[in-house]
Amino acid sequence: MAGAEQSGNLLGLNLEELEKLAESFGEARYRGRQLYHGIYARRAGDLSGLTDLSGDFRAAIAPHQGIIYPQAERHFCSRDGAVRYLFRLPDGKRVETVYMPEEDRTTLCLSSQVGCALDCKFCFTALLGARRNLTAGEIIGQVLAVCAGQSVPRGARLNLVFMGMGEPLLNLPQVLKAVGILADPQGVGVTLRRIAVSTVGILPRIEELALAPMRPKLAISLNASHDEQRSALMPINKKYPLADLLRVCRAYPLRSWEHLMFEYVMLEGFNDADDDARRVADLLGDLCARVNLIPYNSGSQLPFRAPPFERIVAFQKILVDRRIPTFIRISRGQDISAACGQLSLVESG
Ligand code: SAH
Repeated sequence: MAGAEQSGNLLGLNLEELEKLAESFGEARYRGRQLYHGIYARRAGDLSGLTDLSGDFRAAIAPHQGIIYPQAERHFCSRDGAVRYLFRLPDGKRVETVYMPEEDRTTLCLSSQVGCALDCKFCFTALLGARRNLTAGEIIGQVLAVCAGQSVPRGARLNLVFMGMGEPLLNLPQVLKAVGILADPQGVGVTLRRIAVSTVGILPRIEELALAPMRPKLAISLNASHDEQRSALMPINKKYPLADLLRVCRAYPLRSWEHLMFEYVMLEGFNDADDDARRVADLLGDLCARVNLIPYNSGSQLPFRAPPFERIVAFQKILVDRRIPTFIRISRGQDISAACGQLSLVESG
């Protein structure tokens, strides 16, 4: 039966694939739409929850297909309300997702890969090395499993940021497939403007993202003010240096409501001087840019420290004086190793 050729997980299949699947079981196409609605809009966690479908169809699918969420092996709760989930995937590999509730919204920080190949010198995920890409189903599964675990109701204001483990633009087809389902009002129903991908700056992939019909917002991890400094922190800069990165950013087609976001991890004595701030302003001055300054989140194995808060504020002021909106982002979940750059599968919190 054709259905048995599928991965076995309905999660991650888009509308067209589910319609084809229904047909392969001898059902009408619209049964595929009912599957789609049940899995993503109603968030049924197993086949028995797909109550629109006939019992016969469910029984026919059951030996071949399931709705398989990543398994929450452990979770760690921060004093500030953030929760770090350690998910086990069907092949035994693990990824992390962070839940960050706020008064008027909830943000989920999603992983796009198991581990990461980019070897940024300040990032703990880098210590894991490259393992593999996540599937669209594994990406959507992080959202649905956390929402189920935290009882986030459908209709709640949800922000999704691909700032967890991995480089989303090195897994662009699966990330875009997942975003298509997550941002579909008939699917999971997250507002497209509330989804962001963060990248080190894989230039051909940024150009590809620019053409995607359903594209999330783009954030770029700048982290340095000149090439020598950036190459020392982020080896990818040797392949895609700043001048090329900024050329691609200038050509990037922003929508009317959109800014280009730049993240800048603040490392004491390394990239936090007034001169760095002036150079960043020179780099970004002619872009419709916003900057998020992220004080470095520490961990034992890496040799960096966050600057004193006054230094970060002085850096911010230089950018703001040059009319670049700049915000200081204090990472949440530091006490449970859930903050930016800290995701490295540590088994404690
Ligand atoms: N690979 C993507 C997404 C993951 S990293 C990217 O690099 O953009 C998400 C953000 O966390 C990046 O801006 C990165 O620069 C930042 N980050 C990494 N390690 C950090 C650390 N130890 N402290 C603070 N921010 C960190």
